[in-house]
Formats: sequence, structure tokens, C-alpha cells
Amino acid sequence: MNHLILVNLQRPFPEGTAQDLVPIHPDFPHVLMEREAAAALSRLMERLHGWRQLVPVSGWRSREEQRQIYDSALRDHGPDFTRQFVALPGHSEHQTGLAIDLGLLGPDLDFICPAFPYEGICQAFREMAPAYGFIQRYPAGKEAVTGIAHEPWHFRYVGKPYAGEIARRGLVLEEFLS
Ligand SMILES: [Zn+2]
Repeated sequence: MNHLILVNLQRPFPEGTAQDLVPIHPDFPHVLMEREAAAALSRLMERLHGWRQLVPVSGWRSREEQRQIYDSALRDHGPDFTRQFVALPGHSEHQTGLAIDLGLLGPDLDFICPAFPYEGICQAFREMAPAYGFIQRYPAGKEAVTGIAHEPWHFRYVGKPYAGEIARRGLVLEEFLS
């Protein structure tokens, strides 16, 4: 698996790509990521004691699961919301196994838009993420480039040297790769 793989509205995730998926933590056996991304997330969470306060809301998704999420978002929230926050089936970065949505533990954790504020442990996670190979994939101000609304909760594993450079230069993956 190429950790710099680009999946967006223009580029679907290639069907049949070999994947090595593992649970990210024994407490969340249904949340899977690519092996190297899962290991990097574990190291970062251990460093922050993050598992006490942060919940992995969504990791790897099959194309079928993405279709179900897309259809239910469309039904429950309408086309405008869905277009902004939910990728088309086949076009979700979650299908790569390199993306993770995290939410701050709380009473009303939303599945599609979990709370991940720019303060406290969430901000600490955000600031440390590049050193562990993760970038915040859909920052504010880059919506026209990514095609996805600002998502404070969605992190993408690209590997260590790249994540540091992308964060330092204030780029999104589309800009870094072009
Ligand atoms: Zn996500």
C-alpha cells in the first residue's frame, strides 16, 4: 500500500488493492486500519494517554459500508450536507485503511461529524500528529482543493517525513502531490 495514495472525488480507490488491515486497539476490535498506520496511531495515543478521552469513530470502510453511510446521510441530512461531509462510495479515503475519524468522548458523539475541538487533548493530538505520520486531511480554507468541508476530526496517515513536510508547508495532499 502506497501511503501517499490520493483518493478524492476525481480519483476512486482502486478496487482489489491488497490491504493488510488490523484492529487499532483491543477495546475497539471493529475499527481497522492498515498495519503501519494502526501502529503509528497506537504510539501517538499512548504518548498522549489518548484512549482515555478520544474515541475512534471510523477507520477502514468497505465500499459497501461507504454506500450505506452515504445513503443514510442523504436520507437523514439531505444532499447539501452529504456532498460536504460524505464521500461517494468508491471515493472515500476511509477505504484505504489510512484514515481515522476521532471524537472527544462525550454524551452525544456524532458518527459523521464527531467533536474534535482546537483545544485540550484534541489540539495536542493535532499538533503531535505529523511527528507520527498523520495529517489533518480536510483543513479550513482548502475546501475548493479537497472537495470536502472542513473536518477537524479526520486524520490521514501518509508516513513520517511527508506528514512533517505537509504540515510545515501548510499544504493538503492534493497540493503536495501536484
Ligand atoms: Zn473521515
